[in-house]
Amino acid sequence: MGQFYYWLDNPEESFFPTASIIEINENNLDELNIEGAKVWLDCLGKNTGKFVSVAPRRKMEETFNPEGLAWDFSKLRNEREINEFANRYGLLGIRTPGQAEINKIKLQRNLYTDSSYFIDLPIGQSICEPIELWFFHIKQMQRLLKLYKALISIHKGEMDESELEDKLLTVNMPVGGSCQILWWDGTWTGFTAPEEEMEKEESFLEIAQGLLALKVNSIGNQDIKMTPETIITGKPPLGFTIKEWRYTPHLIQAVYFDLWQLISKNEPVHICENPNCKLPFKKVKRQKYCSNACKQEAFRIRKDPEKYGFTKEQVQ
Ligand SMILES: [Zn+2]
Repeated sequence: MGQFYYWLDNPEESFFPTASIIEINENNLDELNIEGAKVWLDCLGKNTGKFVSVAPRRKMEETFNPEGLAWDFSKLRNEREINEFANRYGLLGIRTPGQAEINKIKLQRNLYTDSSYFIDLPIGQSICEPIELWFFHIKQMQRLLKLYKALISIHKGEMDESELEDKLLTVNMPVGGSCQILWWDGTWTGFTAPEEEMEKEESFLEIAQGLLALKVNSIGNQDIKMTPETIITGKPPLGFTIKEWRYTPHLIQAVYFDLWQLISKNEPVHICENPNCKLPFKKVKRQKYCSNACKQEAFRIRKDPEKYGFTKEQVQ
């Protein structure tokens, strides 16, 4: 077993360093001497940045409950909430970029206006992660849950397949025979499709299904580690059985592993009814909003839609 581990089958005593948000700038960069901070700042083209870091303070957390992690992660809205999450669970586990990644990030920073350059960065141990990287992964989780919700609705007949296009996914003009698949807000999904495939009727649904499966699988189901335990049963033929316990050294894998679990259990997803939010959440009883803040905001919007840039019809 590696240095750190998060158990994935049950709430269990795990071993990992907790983290918290710090600001790193020219004044404290040398003093704090946090490995990787300089590289990240250089990649992002700035002198000052907020980081989630296990340094300078950390403690080793013990009990870790893997269930519900994808929901908790997708709900993080601001730095305070990210800090609380990192205080409990530690770093995501994205490696500090090496030279190849540094070049890729710098190149893509000039090509994209969003944080697409964080797509597919290698998983691994590090001391710090820029806050932008956290916001990127939180958004990814929200998008995947929304996509999952849309695929359920299509299968149930509550949503038309044609709504996938534009509402959830869009396609860029083809370049060199292939099209970039984008999320509804114009950010890249990390996938491209051949031009001829995009001309087929049913392709959008297939692409959406493939995208969900691939994204979830690529992080949540790869390189999950197992350790065997011998359980004495006294029963024939051996008198014992062997159970394999799953674990991962990286939090981001535990988050995606939980997403994988909730999808394979067909857990329902609801969309927050606050028109300014519309984020996926796990419903408790008859809850319509993802949070109390959203409940209050929706109430204010309903009272005076125009003031918030909505029409009366939109908030009914
Ligand atoms: Zn909400």
